[in-house]
Amino acid sequence: MDYDYLIKLLCVGDSGVGKTSFLYKYTDGVFHTQFISTVGIDFREKTVIYQQNGRQHRIHLQLWDTAGQERDAMGFLLLFDLTNEASFLEVRNWIEQLKTHSLSDDPDIVLCGHKCDLQEKRLVNQNRAREFAKNHNLAYLETSAKTGQNIDRAIDILLDRVMYRM
Ligand code: GDP
Ligand code: MG
Repeated sequence: MDYDYLIKLLCVGDSGVGKTSFLYKYTDGVFHTQFISTVGIDFREKTVIYQQNGRQHRIHLQLWDTAGQERDAMGFLLLFDLTNEASFLEVRNWIEQLKTHSLSDDPDIVLCGHKCDLQEKRLVNQNRAREFAKNHNLAYLETSAKTGQNIDRAIDILLDRVMYRM
């Protein structure tokens, strides 16, 4: 397969927040209601066309959802579950992890308040998450692997940040 850039992204966040589902939706367009076993599967892949200064580039994306790949990743999706406050409170620690283990001390991170389709179960309100993201200089989006809301957009925003540095 030929491409202009190989970009490795890592999806992190507490167990159960929807990392594997997010990546499946992005690469295959499908959503499963059960936990997806990631045993034996290290990453998912997708080639996208990226426009920059009027030029088209073929970008081959490698999307990992296993912590431990921080050193090789060029950008990060940090997910928490909007229906699980503990997963939001852990975001601070995930940011520290990424700063410690990635090559950059100012890594590109897009924060995703995930499972936004479950509005009636929401426990983290949007202003609170937005304020947090603003204070930490992160982009913030609310996403759903069930409806597909903002899944492509989250990756696009992260890609913009990563490509800007190249
Ligand atoms: P991971 O441990 O972070 O990889 O989480 P999974 O992707 O395995 O998802 C955990 C559970 O949350 C599964 O039951 C998924 O079906 C569910 N889930 C994931 N994303 C969403 C979403 O956007 N909306 C809803 N309603 N459920 C989701
Ligand atoms: Mg998983």
